[in-house]
Amino acid sequence: MQFIIGNWKMNGTRKEKDTMTATISRKKTSARVILCLPFTLLSGENHGVLIGAQDISEHDNGAYTGDISGKMIAETGAKYVIVGHSERRSNHDETNKMIKTKAENAIKNKLIPIICIGETLAEHKSGATKAVITKMMKENLPISGKFIVAYEPRWAIGTGLTPTPEQTAQIINMIYEYLKKHNHGTTPIVYGGSINATNAKSFISIPHINGLLIGGASLKTKTFLPIIDSIS
Ligand code: PEP
Repeated sequence: MQFIIGNWKMNGTRKEKDTMTATISRKKTSARVILCLPFTLLSGENHGVLIGAQDISEHDNGAYTGDISGKMIAETGAKYVIVGHSERRSNHDETNKMIKTKAENAIKNKLIPIICIGETLAEHKSGATKAVITKMMKENLPISGKFIVAYEPRWAIGTGLTPTPEQTAQIINMIYEYLKKHNHGTTPIVYGGSINATNAKSFISIPHINGLLIGGASLKTKTFLPIIDSIS
């Protein structure tokens, strides 16, 4: 099973969601397509397409103005939630500890967290990628429950840059071996970072990759559908 996960970030109107979900629902594909939308678009008609949120509170309820709890997300019908996206880590100072709590909170509310891990450009350049990824896996991943790991090099998000398929394969293999050793051998691993219709195939064919997480190219049917096609 291959996952194609769109991350709309802070983009999209209800009309655009309707067009995208109606178009996806008519598509014949073996992929599991998930659209991670802003909170305001989670509820309402989704034409049977799987929906995810982009963040979840660490807390169950209380005085946390602007935050959205796992229970609230689950009530919209969403089944997934992105946790620890690079933009949350950078723009909201999310720590590894917070991210683990968020992932556990998602699981507690029967949501599947898509847990993002990835190195910065400086870490990539200094050869620290493996150490950084191992630390993130130790500190971010829940002990039990279902989740998805998204390997997203932070320098590849929205930049048009990607690691080579060989570099990616090494890191994905390391993640796979770590998960296997910790009784999560069937946990899906997806790659994200500047995926488009041209490079999707070369990433999807890397061993142990179970799908792609796509930001910019998931916003329009014209750019998203060819990526879905590339794995069908
Ligand atoms: C993302 O936001 O997770 C992402 C991978 O973005 P982009 O595809 O635009 O690099």
